[in-house]
Amino acid sequence: MTHGSTTPASNIEDYLLLDDDALVERIERIRAAMGSRLLILGHHYQRDEVIELADLRGDSYKLSEMAAENRECEAIVFCGVHFMAETADILANRPERLAERQGRRVPVVLPDLAAGCSLADMAEIEQVEDCWNQMAQVIDVEDVMPITYVNSAASLKAFCGRHGGIVCTSANAAAVLDWAFARRSRVLFFPDQHLGRNTARAMAIPIEQMPVWDPTADDLGGNTPEAIRQSRVILWRGHCSVHQMFLPEHIDQFREAHPGIRIVVHPECMREVAEKADAMGSTGKILQMIEQSPPGTRWAIGTELHLVNRLKQQHPEQEIHFLSPVVCMCETMYRIDLPHLCWSLENLAAGTPVNVIEVDAETSRWALTALKRMLQVR
Ligand code: SF4
Repeated sequence: MTHGSTTPASNIEDYLLLDDDALVERIERIRAAMGSRLLILGHHYQRDEVIELADLRGDSYKLSEMAAENRECEAIVFCGVHFMAETADILANRPERLAERQGRRVPVVLPDLAAGCSLADMAEIEQVEDCWNQMAQVIDVEDVMPITYVNSAASLKAFCGRHGGIVCTSANAAAVLDWAFARRSRVLFFPDQHLGRNTARAMAIPIEQMPVWDPTADDLGGNTPEAIRQSRVILWRGHCSVHQMFLPEHIDQFREAHPGIRIVVHPECMREVAEKADAMGSTGKILQMIEQSPPGTRWAIGTELHLVNRLKQQHPEQEIHFLSPVVCMCETMYRIDLPHLCWSLENLAAGTPVNVIEVDAETSRWALTALKRMLQVR
């Protein structure tokens, strides 16, 4: 693939020396040269200067779906984090699409390989397999539905695929739990304990039936056999370091200072925060709530800082506050900056792609099984 006249520097360091105007100009040149053959995806939590250059914006799953549906593009650059690029690779290069393209893959590029997700990193496949084997000593694991949040490595999605399980997003977690309980009596939910707990609580599952599995504990994730036998949802001990920063006292402070303010938080926030808020919702739901509110509505929002700041700019007719007094931003997402975007694009255009995320065929196959199950849940 050779497009554009710029010869890429081999080294990211050369790009770090360029100013933003020069970088944007070079990025726009590649976009113009490649046209619809290039698809730049930008997650809502991205920094402003990057998201402005994205062809499509969305949350993690929405972006992957868009990537999966696109039939024109020959390459995807994912301005997000590692697990998102993996999911895009699995969907964009699924067998039926590869057959349509006579086997040609659409490379998925992550501009900075260090853009990981601290939540996804809290569950490793070896730990989940060990958990499954340990559980099998006290309960019938054939009756346990493994559910992984989409914010997880492809290997965990594949684990779910192999064991009859499924993937969920923050938007469809309740429907996925319903689907799971229609088939099995228990759920193993990973890697985000808060999304699992908040969703199960909203379904009236008692907290005593939700033991937390600590992968660093010696036996049964730190639980007694009895606690595992009585469980309905076994929650993996993982959390998002960004959403963990919102605290119940932040809600108290806002309510005291701004009587009547509406508090909305993401379900990755801890239970005490979710239960105190007026509403809980995925990124898409939060956007929808703001867009549909009458002018003059006052909000305090508990989710990633860049998204909240962008909402403030886009909705000056409403009064929007960030729920925490401290900065809560996704540090790993923030690693995708103009130098990395320019570097990866110019290498892509020159036919020397860097940072291509390619999930191996066996993992892809089973992860796709779990993703397809999710797509059938309504
Ligand atoms: S906000 Fe949290 S869950 Fe989302 S990518 Fe960042 S660390 Fe991961």
